[in-house]
Amino acid sequence: MQLNKLSAAFAALLGLTLAACSDNNSAPAPGAPAPQPEPEVPGLVLSDAQRNSDWYKNGAAAIASARDVAINNDRGAARNVILFVGDGMGISTVTAARILAGQLQGQSGEEYQLSFEKMPFAGLIKTYNTNQQTPDSAGTATAMVTGVKTKAGVLNVDETVARGDCAGSLQRPLTTALELAEGLGKSTGIVSTARITHATPAATYAKVPERGWEYAAPEGCKDIATQLVELAAGDGIDVVMGGGRRSFLPAEVTDLEGKTGRRTDGVNLIDAWKARYNDGVTNARYIEDQSGFDGIEVASTDKLLGLFESSHMRYEEDRDNDVAGEPSLSQMTGKAIELLSKNENGYFMMVESGRIDHGHHAGSAYSALTDAVEMAKAVQVAMDNTSAEDTLIVVTADHSHVMTIAGYPTRGNPILGKVVNNDSRGQPEAGVALAADGLPYTTITYANGLGHAHYGASTDADDRYEDPISAGRQDISASDTESAGYHQEALVPLGSETHAGEDVGVWARGPGSHLLSGTNEQSFIFHVMAHSGGLMGEN
Ligand SMILES: [Zn+2]
Repeated sequence: MQLNKLSAAFAALLGLTLAACSDNNSAPAPGAPAPQPEPEVPGLVLSDAQRNSDWYKNGAAAIASARDVAINNDRGAARNVILFVGDGMGISTVTAARILAGQLQGQSGEEYQLSFEKMPFAGLIKTYNTNQQTPDSAGTATAMVTGVKTKAGVLNVDETVARGDCAGSLQRPLTTALELAEGLGKSTGIVSTARITHATPAATYAKVPERGWEYAAPEGCKDIATQLVELAAGDGIDVVMGGGRRSFLPAEVTDLEGKTGRRTDGVNLIDAWKARYNDGVTNARYIEDQSGFDGIEVASTDKLLGLFESSHMRYEEDRDNDVAGEPSLSQMTGKAIELLSKNENGYFMMVESGRIDHGHHAGSAYSALTDAVEMAKAVQVAMDNTSAEDTLIVVTADHSHVMTIAGYPTRGNPILGKVVNNDSRGQPEAGVALAADGLPYTTITYANGLGHAHYGASTDADDRYEDPISAGRQDISASDTESAGYHQEALVPLGSETHAGEDVGVWARGPGSHLLSGTNEQSFIFHVMAHSGGLMGEN
């Protein structure tokens, strides 16, 4: 049977070839019977429907451009390295943010591409800590910037150190990519919408056995804010922008937005930073609001410290409510690149979208996704203002969250909306699908957390912590689930929604970006940055 099929196929192919040859040589004689169409050979010929499909054409075009992507394996080929971390930006968050971004532009959304999804290489990253299946941000950030996985809760000390063990931590420090870059005379920058002393940004410069030591530490150890100001590598960090003013100010000091400092040692670290860098040679500038940001003179600014909020900066959609005004992640990214690009030796920069994570913890997909869309915008700014020839851009997440995209919503259904099936599953009114309990449900839900709540048009997801847990099914028939203040249902009741343990994505462009293909440990990211960025010099 098989043989017969095969020989029929070959005969048909031969027939096609002969027919093609004879067509070239002679037209059918007048009055001769019209030529019969050749029989189609199943499995050997693409149908017209296939070849004329836009999906097919787009795929063929993608092959053509993918073949042309330059592969650069050379050590040190990347003069500049930018690491973007979407805190908590798991795969489901990326998918939902993509759909939301497309829908905000009037498209159905599923086909949209976020900036970094247009990068030529992508892979998967295993995020677990050495002592936790589902990780925390301190251990994961340490892995990315040192090449060594470690425990949850510790920054830049290895896994043998017990959490909170000051003396032990001093014996087992890990050097970071930022420190290596400083040592090579490169410029360095950190930008985050979280407190700049929070786990992910702190991992670029601080070594502590407890991530909570942001403004105070036991005798013998230094708190994270102090370590930022005193960083010994090179000439210290050149560009710092984020939240977390309170860790730099004494408790007796009230800041411009009416918040008091947290330091009990009486030290004003903002003054200490100015004293260190305004030495008559360098021009160091401290800013703390939008007008200060708008007034940055790039040419004359050698060092920049921007602390725009007492604690974390605002969610992107909540930024208009800020007292003193603060820049967006994409604005900060653009300004940081301008400042760092002045150094002909190049730069290392870490940019964190810190509050995707916080939106999820509060059970607000709206806040998490709109911050993720802003992060994609920041990556676009970096792609537009650097060259793939000499700049490695890596975009990843430290860990995922338990947000899921579920049900069978019809194509183009609002990603924050209630599920509307194509066929409404036999229910009388075509439209919102009903679950077996007779109630509607949203496409996005959480496996755990505080659960459903609705704060109207409020754009501050942290409202949720003021009210009790309400896990499980709720009647959301009357709720506008697409509004800013809507918090999704959650199954398991917890005071804060948790991280998730599945792999996260990594996307990359520039020298060495292809090395991030495949499934790798999170610590591998450091090795690619160090190799392509030449961060270990001749060693
Ligand atoms: Zn978190």
